[in-house]
Amino acid sequence: MEACNNYYYATRDPLGRDGDFTTAPEISQMFGELVGAALAECWTRAERPADAIYVELGPGRGSLAADALRVLRGAGFAGGARFVETSPVLRALQAERVPNAHWHDAVEDLPAAPLLLVANEFFDALPIHQFVSGIERRVEVIGDGLAFDRDGEIVEQSPAREQAVSAIATCLVQCGGVALVIDYGHERSAPGDTLQAVRGHRYVPTLIDAGEQDLTSHVDFEALGRAASEAGAKVTTVVTQGDWLNRLGIGARAASLATANPERISELEKAVDRLCHEEQMGQLFKVMAIHSPDWPAPAGFEA
Ligand code: SAH
Repeated sequence: MEACNNYYYATRDPLGRDGDFTTAPEISQMFGELVGAALAECWTRAERPADAIYVELGPGRGSLAADALRVLRGAGFAGGARFVETSPVLRALQAERVPNAHWHDAVEDLPAAPLLLVANEFFDALPIHQFVSGIERRVEVIGDGLAFDRDGEIVEQSPAREQAVSAIATCLVQCGGVALVIDYGHERSAPGDTLQAVRGHRYVPTLIDAGEQDLTSHVDFEALGRAASEAGAKVTTVVTQGDWLNRLGIGARAASLATANPERISELEKAVDRLCHEEQMGQLFKVMAIHSPDWPAPAGFEA
């Protein structure tokens, strides 16, 4: 999974209509703006530390960063932007959107500073292991194809995801800050096979065309939360993307954009629907925040 995704992302821009999948920041500017507003509000209540930095994990085309930073700059945030990104193709696109950014290969390489961090559809791409009756399920080469070596009830684990969360949480505890994790997944750990491959906006079999399709699995937010807590950070409840965006005021933002741009009304309505409706991204996608014990919890997670 790791080798496939490294190759996949290093060799293309997979996003958008002509690519394999479309993400929330590519659907509408409102997504990144509300992320920026949530981070700005939290930073303001933490007394606006001047050494804080904006950090994004796997920023894709840089759209979320550009939209979030526009709002953060408006709130007086003057800190730098740091991206954890391995793909040279996507780094080049990110440089067009956020010209003064700095790049890192891994979370562990981030500087010691208060973090305003966001990861949208980043963790789903990090590799998992699958176990059947406690034995790791492996992929075998059979003839010209690939096949799993065993079937049965599957339990998934992702040391790579937990390690990345642990590194972020340690940074938050030492230097302050807040991290927003947004992804498809489940609030509680549960058995089940969630490995999936997507190509050209369709689900396809996972073991064909290795490295030519997006290979991900659902994110186990309970496991991420546990890793963050064990590192000493505070973790909020997990909320659905629909509830979170509504609480942050996507309705008001859409209305104000519609007033200023009446020709965009139908596009804005469609975007709110795609992002928030329970049959679209609203329910499957979840949001969780991790924050320093010295920082307030960000808005949008109240019971
Ligand atoms: N956040 C963006 C893109 C999501 S696609 C959006 O919402 O549109 C996943 C992103 O994570 C891509 O930018 C990909 O290159 C990056 N990525 C995948 N695996 C990575 C890894 N191991 N280390 C750093 N970046 C990675």
